[in-house]
Amino acid sequence: MNIELLHKHFLDSSGVCTDTRKISSHCIFFALKGENFNGNLFAQEALDRGAAKVIVDEEAYHKNTGETVLVENVLLTLQQLARFHREFLGLPIISLTGSNGKTTSKELINAVLSKKFKTVATQGNLNNHIGVPLTLLAMNEETELGIVEMGANHLGEIKMLSEIAEPDYGYITNFGKAHLEGFGSLEGVIQGKTELYQFLKKHSRKIFVNANDPKQLANSEGIERITFGTPQSDFDIQLIDSSHHLLIEFKGTKMQSNLVGAYNFANLSAAIAIGAYFKVSIEKIKDGIEGYVPSNNRSQLMVKGTNTILMDAYNANPTSMMAALENFKQAKGENKIMFLGDMFELGKEAETEHQIIVDFLAENHFGNVFLVGSNFFKTTSNASHIRKFETFEELKTTFENNLQKNATILIKASRGMALERILDVI
Ligand code: ATP
Ligand code: MG
Repeated sequence: MNIELLHKHFLDSSGVCTDTRKISSHCIFFALKGENFNGNLFAQEALDRGAAKVIVDEEAYHKNTGETVLVENVLLTLQQLARFHREFLGLPIISLTGSNGKTTSKELINAVLSKKFKTVATQGNLNNHIGVPLTLLAMNEETELGIVEMGANHLGEIKMLSEIAEPDYGYITNFGKAHLEGFGSLEGVIQGKTELYQFLKKHSRKIFVNANDPKQLANSEGIERITFGTPQSDFDIQLIDSSHHLLIEFKGTKMQSNLVGAYNFANLSAAIAIGAYFKVSIEKIKDGIEGYVPSNNRSQLMVKGTNTILMDAYNANPTSMMAALENFKQAKGENKIMFLGDMFELGKEAETEHQIIVDFLAENHFGNVFLVGSNFFKTTSNASHIRKFETFEELKTTFENNLQKNATILIKASRGMALERILDVI
């Protein structure tokens, strides 16, 4: 079936579905394959549960009933359909990528833009070769603006995603040491992320640039830029207070965010600048910024008993870990405690990067440190304020009978560590 015809069926359907447990009646089921599953096996079940059509790529699951469509490759078909749909709608799309802060920025941008426009933004963290097509296919003729998060852990991925989403505007949150395993080095990361810039340059589209970030300025040269963050830039935004929830000011209006961590200033400024660029009124920008409350253990401030907790256990990599530590160093509190877990996906850099963090903590004594995970366990230091645990269970047992009081606590680790579990014993 050609894409044009498939698109007609798509427009007549209730949307795309990929999981038979969450089927909506009259959807088009794409039988995707993953490492541990083969969607083709669920094609019949999808039809039984109300799917209008199923797209399969294995002959054995193709039935000549008109309801099953056999294609070469289901994933490619999904991507082609998304691209076709994106061109069909022709609406403006903003894409963002970067090492840290994509989802936070995307949520903030959406919070601001949705005050004026009918927007569709990436759901949660669905930012990969499947998530980007699904985001595009969630847009319809009423959608006025699309906001698409793009994630990558290897070269070529952002190029591919840009060719599907064809963004009119781009924003790169930052270049940091994330997914080093796939990118090889920080240079590799920059090369990977700037595939978005290459796309925008080639097609004469625009880029939002945080003028406080020299790497962003340097790498975006030659593209039509909209800058923010400094008095000289298009949108001058100031950080007034970062000791608690960030307080910022734009054109004389103060905005009280619900985010902690000075690094969130970049994320907030991007949302304000993009809102202002699209002529959202200052009152509505303020509403959007102040109404956004983070979830999912991302930069959340929590209170438990007499303890204040800075919960950032959603994710970690060397750059975001260092940003969180620099921020926590400045934080108020007599009794500061850090629970830090392993950073994943660092490949051969794992040993060095964990040691860099430990060396920083040894030289900068601003609280007691509890490290957990096999990577942190392998690091060395003589500092008495740093303790290491190989497993979470060992860390937990130590704290179970030793509840903390009146402490200011930072919790940060890669997602796989699920370090938020420590909340049970503090
Ligand atoms: P993912 O790779 O999982 O999609 P992401 O880029 O979407 O991550 P977020 O989910 O927004 O990033 O934030 C994850 C963590 O990164 C936050 O909890 C925070 O610790 C850190 N972080 C957020 N923004 C920044 C920033 N601008 N600079 C450095 N670290 C940041
Ligand atoms: Mg994300």
